[in-house]
Formats: sequence, structure tokens, C-alpha cells
Amino acid sequence: MMSEKTSILVVDNEVGTQSNLCTILEDAGYEVTELGKGDEALAIIRNHPFSVIITDIKLPDVDGIKILELAKEINPDVAVIMMTDNASIETAVNAVNEGAYAYFVKPVNMDEMKTIISNALRQQRLSLQNRRLVEGLQHSNKLLFETNKELRKATQAKSEFLANMSHELRTPLNTIIGFSELLLDSVPGEINSQQRQCLSDILRSGQHLLSLINDTLDLSKVESGKMKLYLTDIALPDVIEPLRRIMIPILALRKQSLDIEVEKELPPVHADKTKLRQVFINLLNNSAKFTPDGGTLKIEAGRIGERCQVSVVDNGIGIKQEDQEWIFEPFYQIDNPLTKERSGAGLGLTLVKQIIEMHNGNIRVASEYGKGSQFTFTLPLAAVGQPNSEGKNGQ
Ligand code: ADP
Repeated sequence: MMSEKTSILVVDNEVGTQSNLCTILEDAGYEVTELGKGDEALAIIRNHPFSVIITDIKLPDVDGIKILELAKEINPDVAVIMMTDNASIETAVNAVNEGAYAYFVKPVNMDEMKTIISNALRQQRLSLQNRRLVEGLQHSNKLLFETNKELRKATQAKSEFLANMSHELRTPLNTIIGFSELLLDSVPGEINSQQRQCLSDILRSGQHLLSLINDTLDLSKVESGKMKLYLTDIALPDVIEPLRRIMIPILALRKQSLDIEVEKELPPVHADKTKLRQVFINLLNNSAKFTPDGGTLKIEAGRIGERCQVSVVDNGIGIKQEDQEWIFEPFYQIDNPLTKERSGAGLGLTLVKQIIEMHNGNIRVASEYGKGSQFTFTLPLAAVGQPNSEGKNGQ
């Protein structure tokens, strides 16, 4: 059975020093091996894992430095303590530079020796713990790397599946929408009011389904790096002003108003016009959706340093602090009466965030529950930012 005591090797040809040292160390609870010759020491350290080696620097047969070198080669953590007389102090200092833990000038102060040994042992324990921690960390990193690889593969497969499915679903859906419109326009023949009502429901549901499919398709394109940006220099009012007309039906229905404040002399932004329009429509639709009838929506845009900053503000139901960090995640919807009543899939803000980030911008929300919300995003100004037109992944 292996001893649990710390084992120490003492190598010294001066019998007096050796036995004195050994007795004191044994009394202190260490397991001590004492040798008088250097070649015996070189032989034993090859096979025995000593924690500490105390050796005279000038043995008659072998240089103490040799013992140090071999001991360190076999176990880099071993603490080698050199003993020297006054004449060899320089050699002992060199030995410390070569990796010896400490040196003692004879006659050795035993209390100091015991302190040095217990410090060395503590250091060994710490470095062992550190090594185990590092090994554990390396192992976890490896696992994480493998898991990430799997996850990336799965995400890619999911994105491709969604992209294909969405594409396949759009074709028949467009046929349904097209023929509903045709029937509502009475092209094939007159329809009665009950049929008109049914067709309007089919058309509305079809359009809603189409917008969900479009969002899903867009998201899968972004995730697989296939969404491309067509960047041009755009005067922001050219995108914002037409939104008044687009928003008329929903605003009129809810008796809401839309204010637009664009800073005078705002330089053009460098962006994809269609995608930017989609960002505004998603944000405005949300603001209208989550603001009670009669509320106010507002778009503000101005220059902040080298960027354009845009806010879409409403005085609607607001978002609780704990929900704010989640709303940009896919399919996240907050449980409130308006979410149920006014349909959505929880993809709108995810897409908005992805599109803004593809433009090297960022988006944040500030909101007070019950008072309203403000979504603020940044865009590069024409002369400044030139994001990768292949999308942020550049794939
Ligand atoms: P959807 O609108 O389709 O539900 P979004 O991703 O656009 O999905 O929004 C996620 C959720 O964030 C919404 O369900 C809603 O609860 C909340 N939200 C978004 N915009 C607002 C807003 N302006 N005011 C209050 N809540 C909002």
C-alpha cells in the first residue's frame, strides 16, 4: 500500500547534516529517504515520485545541478532545494534560476527549511488543482465545440427545410388569394352578400397566412446567410412618408394618429430600401396593434454622430421589464389580451433585429408597462457605413 505521507529525498555526503535534517523532517511527519551519493540519487528519482528533493550542490561524485535537471525532467512540479556552503552561493543562485525552488547556506536553519517545504507543498497542491481545472475546462470546451457544431448543422437543416416549405406553400396560397380577389371583383359572375362575406374571410385569412409564411421564409434566409441586401443611399423621408398611406386602413380602424419628425438636413442612409420599409411596417404594425384605440404613434429620426437614429414610439400598453429582453427572440409573444385578439406569430421583431444588424446597426426597446413603448434603431449614414451587401454572414 502506498504511504499517504509526503516523500522527501535528502542527498548529502556530510553524514551529520543529513541525519540531523532527516530526523527533524521525519518528526515533522514526512517520509524521508536519505542518500549519501549523487549517482544513487539519480537512480532512485527515475522510479520514485518524490515531492521534495533536498540536495547538496557539491556532491563528490555528481553535480547537484544534474540531480535538479533530472528531477525536473521527470516531474516538473517537484520542489528541489539546494544546500550550499558559502563558497558555492553563486552556483546555488544559478540553480534557482534553472528551476530550483530555493537554496540554503549550511548550517541549515531547520525552522526555515520546514517553512520552505510546506510552502513548496502548498504551491504543488495549487498547481495540481489549477491543472485539473484547466483540464476540466478544456474538456468542457471540447464538448461545447462539438455541441455547437451539431447545433449549427441542425439550425442549417431547419432553415433549409423552412425555406423550402415556405416557398412551396406560397404558390398554392397565392392562387387562393388571387381567385378570392377575382371572385370578390365578380369577374366570373355576380355573388350574393353572404358569399361575399365568406370570400372576404378567405381572403383575409389567406393574406395573414401569406405574411406569416413570408416572415418565416425571410427568417430562414437570414439564418442560413442567404438574405442579400441591395444597398443604396436613401433619403429617409422617401421611405417614411409613403408609410402614412400604407398605414391608413389600420390607423383609421383604430382612430390612431401617426406623427413623423425627421430632422432637417438628415443625410441619406445607406440601406436596403425594401428591407428598411419592412422594418418600419413591422414596428408600426406592432405599435398600432398594441396601442388602444385613439392612441398616438410617432416616428422620429435624427443624426447621432456618424449614424442615423430612428425611433418608433407609441403610447400603448407597454412591455414589462422582464419581457423586454425576450421580445426579439423568434416566436416570443407576451400573453396579453391584445396579442390574442390581434394576430401575429412572434416573428416580426426577430426579423427587424436581424435586418438592422445586417446593416451594422442595433435596436433596443425602452418601455414602461401601461404607458407605451419606444423602439430605437441605428443605421449607417450614406458616406460612413458600407456593410457587407451579402449579409452579415457574408455567405
Ligand atoms: P407579433 O407582433 O407577431 O406577436 P413580434 O415579434 O412583432 O411578434 O413581437 C413580439 C411581442 O412583443 C408581441 O407579441 C408583443 O407582445 C410585444 N410587442 C411588440 N411590439 C410592441 C409594442 N409596440 N407595444 C407593446 N408590446 C409589443
